[in-house]
Amino acid sequence: MAETQTKHKRIEASEMNPKFKYEIAQMHGGEKLMRCFQCGTCTSDCPIAKFSDTYRPRQIIRMAQLGLKDRVLKSDTLWLCASCFTCTDRCPQDVEVASVIRVLRNLAAEEGCIPQVFKEEAASILDTGYAYRIPELRIKKRESVGLPPLPKGNSENIRKSLRGIRLFDSAEKKGE
Ligand code: SF4
Ligand code: SF4
Repeated sequence: MAETQTKHKRIEASEMNPKFKYEIAQMHGGEKLMRCFQCGTCTSDCPIAKFSDTYRPRQIIRMAQLGLKDRVLKSDTLWLCASCFTCTDRCPQDVEVASVIRVLRNLAAEEGCIPQVFKEEAASILDTGYAYRIPELRIKKRESVGLPPLPKGNSENIRKSLRGIRLFDSAEKKGE
């Protein structure tokens, strides 16, 4: 994940894949991508953009429209979206911004472009049911203060219910 979404990186014509927008538009949630007229409402209302110098949903949508496939799929900021759907609710053009971001993440996951932290989180959920591996020390500490053991996740059921989600499919393949 070397590349992050930089504000002023020059766009080369060779980077543009004109078919990319059609690829996205065929996927559920990506159909209205081309309606975006870059008003910026999604960015101005996005709670993550408020705290980040680089995360701009409007910019992600524009990169997708322009066919900057590699750039957008390799962008770490793609993974900052909290899926709160504020952008989708506020878009005057009815673009399903949060869903386009989900589509892009799925495509990124397919190509193995997943930040390490999410790979580890996905592997932990598949193995234990918890988003992070609870350290042995913490488990012992609970016992020492008389707290009941934490419930155990059913790995088999978790794997079954998450099958088809590309982030988890990719984590499962790694574990095989
Ligand atoms: S709010 Fe909608 S039209 Fe405006 S920039 Fe965002 S996606 Fe585009
Ligand atoms: S869904 Fe993602 S991009 Fe949209 S407002 Fe929420 S955090 Fe921002």
